[in-house]
Amino acid sequence: MEQIVYFKQLNTLSSFLHNVYKEQKSHAYLLTSEDEVTLSAAAKILALNFSCQKGEELPCYECSSCVKILNDTALDVFVYPKKNSIVVDDIKEIVASSQVKPLEFDKKIYILNNFSQATISAQNKLLKTLEEPPQDVIFILTASSDKAVLPTIASRVKTIALKRATSSEIKSILQTLSTDDKKIDIAAENSGGNLGRALSLLNDEVYFGIYNFILNLTINMNSSKQLINYSSVIEKNKKFIEVYFEVLNSMFRDMLIIKQGLYQLVINQNSLNLLKLASVSYSQVALIKAIEEVNKAKKMLKFNTNVTGVIDTLLLSILEVKYKWKN
Ligand SMILES: [Zn+2]
Repeated sequence: MEQIVYFKQLNTLSSFLHNVYKEQKSHAYLLTSEDEVTLSAAAKILALNFSCQKGEELPCYECSSCVKILNDTALDVFVYPKKNSIVVDDIKEIVASSQVKPLEFDKKIYILNNFSQATISAQNKLLKTLEEPPQDVIFILTASSDKAVLPTIASRVKTIALKRATSSEIKSILQTLSTDDKKIDIAAENSGGNLGRALSLLNDEVYFGIYNFILNLTINMNSSKQLINYSSVIEKNKKFIEVYFEVLNSMFRDMLIIKQGLYQLVINQNSLNLLKLASVSYSQVALIKAIEEVNKAKKMLKFNTNVTGVIDTLLLSILEVKYKWKN
């Protein structure tokens, strides 16, 4: 199963959760992160700690208990929602089954993913069980933040804010899914430590196309004649305009950082040499102005339906600042 492969790579998260398990004993946890993939992985990794046959060590991912949890076949581990979001009937089912002793593990574990999307009545229904928990039951809730669930729920659980995965961890996870090193680097570097985003970028051909296009534009757009060619390509793909803006922003930001010699802070490490080359034709002021122009264009887009006009204006402004603010 695919996820077993990448769960093992999440070393930082895994030791973090093992410490939570050892030092913050509770019958109910609320794991928080903006990354849904990390959240659902973390909920399972925490559950593994309670049932791994290796006992006090980090979960092994190999014993029959670990494998059952990872494959969703463990009799005492229940993962919700079964459909889109958790509703009152789910909680009724959970409350009833939590009264029954575990069958194979020491504890029954209920993983309630995306609990912020649970209906208010479902959240209220769970509250009573959290206040008077049955024996041998662990609840693991996940949400984007503790503010996203009812305050009464948040006060009854141990809230654990998850850290982002490191770029190298994300890369090693992506390496289990792809052999294309360049794509792996681009996806990991532009994920902002969000594993879910990295996984979706890895399969996003449109994103890679736009990435290479923008890299080319920052190096080669030197005249208004070339500008017309670049703008016509963007116009053809205008439904992805926000991605163009995002990549432009990230590359101008990196070029500015390169100008300051802070190479280790560059996000797009895979394109460091090309970005160094591109940065030669821009002064620091030009780059700051260019970033301002991208942000201005983003705002214009919200008010102006004429996308073509916004694209032309932006590219022209970039060309202008490039020559107006020469080194
Ligand atoms: Zn195990």
